[in-house]
Amino acid sequence: AETKSQYIKGKWLGKGTYANVYEAHLKSNPSQLFAIKKMIVGAEAKDGLSMDSIREVKYLQELSHPNIIKLHAVFSSKNQNLNLVLEHLPRGSLEQLISEGDIQYGSADIKAWMGMLARGLHHCHSNFILHRDIKPGNVLVAADGELKLADFGLARSFADPWTRMTYLVITRWYRPPELLFQARHYGSTADVWSVGVIFAELVIRKAWMPGGSDLEQLHLIANVVGLPTEDVWPGVSKLDGYIKLTKDPAAPQTPVQHRQQMQREFALVGPEGVDLLMQMMALDPRKRATAKKVLMHEWWNMEPKPRRKEDLPRKV
Ligand code: ADP
Repeated sequence: AETKSQYIKGKWLGKGTYANVYEAHLKSNPSQLFAIKKMIVGAEAKDGLSMDSIREVKYLQELSHPNIIKLHAVFSSKNQNLNLVLEHLPRGSLEQLISEGDIQYGSADIKAWMGMLARGLHHCHSNFILHRDIKPGNVLVAADGELKLADFGLARSFADPWTRMTYLVITRWYRPPELLFQARHYGSTADVWSVGVIFAELVIRKAWMPGGSDLEQLHLIANVVGLPTEDVWPGVSKLDGYIKLTKDPAAPQTPVQHRQQMQREFALVGPEGVDLLMQMMALDPRKRATAKKVLMHEWWNMEPKPRRKEDLPRKV
């Protein structure tokens, strides 16, 4: 068991919804930096917030992979505050790489970053863990350029498919249609959808489907990949939150037109890249690519090869 006294707290790194994050190092070794995530366990903690912290610990401890943030230790401080000692990831998040205009990147960089995301995701899913809140802000960059899935606060095991799960997870823009329709039994391909949205965002460098409400989100999705009907997604109309969407005359009307629209918008990654993206954005979660299937796609073998991580563009 680790105790607080082993770590010297350094400068404040940032604030999240439920935590303050500080730089830290071991007394015995000042050169290796860590990030200490001090969970805010206040009066509001009763409504499941401390549960979130406990979940984060439980799942992170089980995972060990280059593309998943490493949890080095856990200790409690005064008022039973939970402290997570995490790998120090000093190069910001994917959100910053995407939005900072002075950072230039191309298809080789996107392929390298997508490979890291897909490998991290596959590792989570092979261990029966869903992340459930994948978005660019939760993908952090290590000193060596490796991307790491972080913020496992909402993660949970999907080993028991019969427990009903909450559909109020995943930030709306990255949320798959089954969750927007309030499905209670969903699987790992919900995370694949979120990574697909990130893939698109990496290419266009702005939010792809920035819905202002759940209904608007569903319309944006329908305009991009098509209407969710019983034909393409058997059973969809039985979901609790199902809403029959109507055709937008300005949107593509056939699967061929949808693919053509995607090939124009995502020309940077070529037809194979677009094919992968479309497999990740299948409306029916059972037809959507799994993380394993994503890793086996032909796009990875096309030119250009993924950029070596030491050559990837970085925040200045
Ligand atoms: P929350 O889960 O409560 O939203 P975050 O995990 O988003 O908290 O952390 C808040 C901020 O702290 C981040 O935006 C980032 O600036 C910083 N941060 C978080 N984790 C690390 C880390 N491992 N290394 C360096 N900085 C971090």
